[in-house]
Amino acid sequence: MQRLSAAMLGDLLAGDLRVFGGPSTIEPLAGRIRAEQVNIVLRNTLLGMLANILNAATVVMAVWGSPDQTKAIVWASVIIGAAGFVGLRARTSFRSAKPRSVSRRTTQNLVRNAFLFGTWWGALPVLFFGGATSAAQVVITCLSAGMIAGGAASFYTIPIAAIAYTLPIFVGSALAIVWVEDAVNLPVAILIVSYAITLFRAVLAHASEFTQRLILQAESENAIRRDVLTSLPNRFSFNERLENALVDAKQFDQHFALLLFDLNNFDEVNDRFGRAIADALLVEVAARLRKSTRESDGIARLDGDEFAIIVTCDTRPDQIRFLAKQITDGMRTPFIIEGREIYCGASIGITLAPTDGLDANQLLRCVDTALHRAKTLGTGSIQFFSANDDEVATRRHALERDLASALASDQLWLAFQPFLDLGSDRIRGFEALLRWQHPTLGAIPPSEFIPIAEETGLIHSIGHWAVKTACLAAARWPRDLRVSVNLSAVQLKNKVLLDGILETLAEAGLEPRRLEVEITENVLISNFEETISLLRSLSSLSVTVALDDFGTGYSSLTYLRKLPLSRLKIDRSFVQDLLTDADCAAIVRSLVELAHELRIEVTAEGVETSDQLDYLRRVGCDEVQGYLIGKPVRVDDIPGIAAKPFGQKQVLQ
Ligand code: C2E
Ligand code: MG
Ligand code: MG
Repeated sequence: MQRLSAAMLGDLLAGDLRVFGGPSTIEPLAGRIRAEQVNIVLRNTLLGMLANILNAATVVMAVWGSPDQTKAIVWASVIIGAAGFVGLRARTSFRSAKPRSVSRRTTQNLVRNAFLFGTWWGALPVLFFGGATSAAQVVITCLSAGMIAGGAASFYTIPIAAIAYTLPIFVGSALAIVWVEDAVNLPVAILIVSYAITLFRAVLAHASEFTQRLILQAESENAIRRDVLTSLPNRFSFNERLENALVDAKQFDQHFALLLFDLNNFDEVNDRFGRAIADALLVEVAARLRKSTRESDGIARLDGDEFAIIVTCDTRPDQIRFLAKQITDGMRTPFIIEGREIYCGASIGITLAPTDGLDANQLLRCVDTALHRAKTLGTGSIQFFSANDDEVATRRHALERDLASALASDQLWLAFQPFLDLGSDRIRGFEALLRWQHPTLGAIPPSEFIPIAEETGLIHSIGHWAVKTACLAAARWPRDLRVSVNLSAVQLKNKVLLDGILETLAEAGLEPRRLEVEITENVLISNFEETISLLRSLSSLSVTVALDDFGTGYSSLTYLRKLPLSRLKIDRSFVQDLLTDADCAAIVRSLVELAHELRIEVTAEGVETSDQLDYLRRVGCDEVQGYLIGKPVRVDDIPGIAAKPFGQKQVLQ
């Protein structure tokens, strides 16, 4: 009970409206409310103190020449001194930046000061009213009434401060009136009490309305800063925090780090398990992120599976790396969502301010680049931005921007590289390979722009164009030549791919058996079942399927058995070392045998020398491709190449 009342008194003195039946608040919000309350009081303080000084001087003038003159001078000096001191302090604090939060202590001090001033003004009628002339009594009454009204108005945001200030003046005035024996005392006392009640009610109503408005404002501000799904701060809040960190970095030379991370296979989770599970996963990720970080780390969900953290404490690179490691370690354990075990590692990119820059956009670019590098290094990687990245990033952004219009402005074209059939020594077909002739940067290799096309989604339109252009070209070739088109993993996820291919074949008038699609093993890792069903549909229409770059990915023999494959393309790296590395030779030999057992043809890629060709012939390889046979050429050069039989040592250029 005792503790309760002590707590209540503390709340009361801290300006808490709950004591008066006002709304209850959590401490951070209460701190904000106190800040607004105190700021408004401070705004009026300078004028209020000036009024104190003038009024005290008026009292001295009113009793000048009477026996109370000296007492009045002493009384007024205290008020003038204190008002001068408080006024000057209020002026300086008003000039400095407004605090966003104010402690209970500050409000309590303010209430105490209000009480001291009120008490001193309350002493005025007690000390001087009885011995004053009627004129001086009128002055004292007016001044007391004025101070009550002015005080209530100045402290209207903090009712307890208003009470602390006005109550002693009411009491003092009442005592003075009672002591002067007069018939009108009773009605005057009743008047004073009813004024007091009216005044307090007005102050309380104002304060209550003011606080409610602040709470509503804080709630709506909070809502626009929160991510609905994870309850983490959202991009809006992140941007504000970043701006604040930048201001601190510029003004006070404070360092900070920006970390960006995303989940390595979130899109697959989304595709495979659906939106609800993907959302539940994000909620779990947010929870783990909260666990691996500290209160002071500004975490936010920016978009989809992209999260950012602004670190302002312990910003040495080793400390930041440690924090990042905690996060990646936290994400490593499988997530259990609705009974399913989901593995979803994260990679993190990091940029440091001011080292990498003091501009929000620049830092965001840096951290994005660092994340990109981290992702290419695999799950769990942590990468700091490095100055070298800058050039790479600038080029990447330029390519990203220009690729969008490359197709429309005829900068993309297809090169065709021949396959040689080792049984007949004749050209059996051509592989279509994308080329991009950039107007200023020259030829951009597909290894550079295809990943960009995949990330931006442009691969769908570009890939469709490639299939169409290849089919239209092949339709004009002799009927025993096929055309091969590469399909990337991203394209295979697109449900309309199959229809697009069928339409294109019909439009070009190309027999489906003359089209081959090349896929790589990484296509299969992410969406095995869906890819199989798509490939089955294609092969049921007689479109053939080749597994490209075999041996470079997570080569699994399961693929050979389960996929409707017609061809296996042994990667260039095996062919290169064929004659110098006995293991390579053994792998190629066994692969050819194994594939033949499974009725799959074998094409060796990257054949550059006739010795390699001879070896491949000896081990029974069906087909070869490489610079020895022919480099990728323009479509116009194909008729000449296709017509010539491939003789001994004859190399097509
Ligand atoms: P890939 O499908 O394995 O294509 C073979 C790559 O090896 C081609 O590089 C080709 O020019 C190169 N090459 C062929 N013979 C030799 C040789 O004897 N020696 C050497 N050193 N290299 C040889 P390119 O054209 O740069 O293509 C690289 C990759 O880009 C392709 O690998 C393919 O994965 C991808 N790509 C190309 N065009 C397309 C396309 O239309 N769509 C998709 N999704 N990917 C494509
Ligand atoms: Mg290929
Ligand atoms: Mg290949």
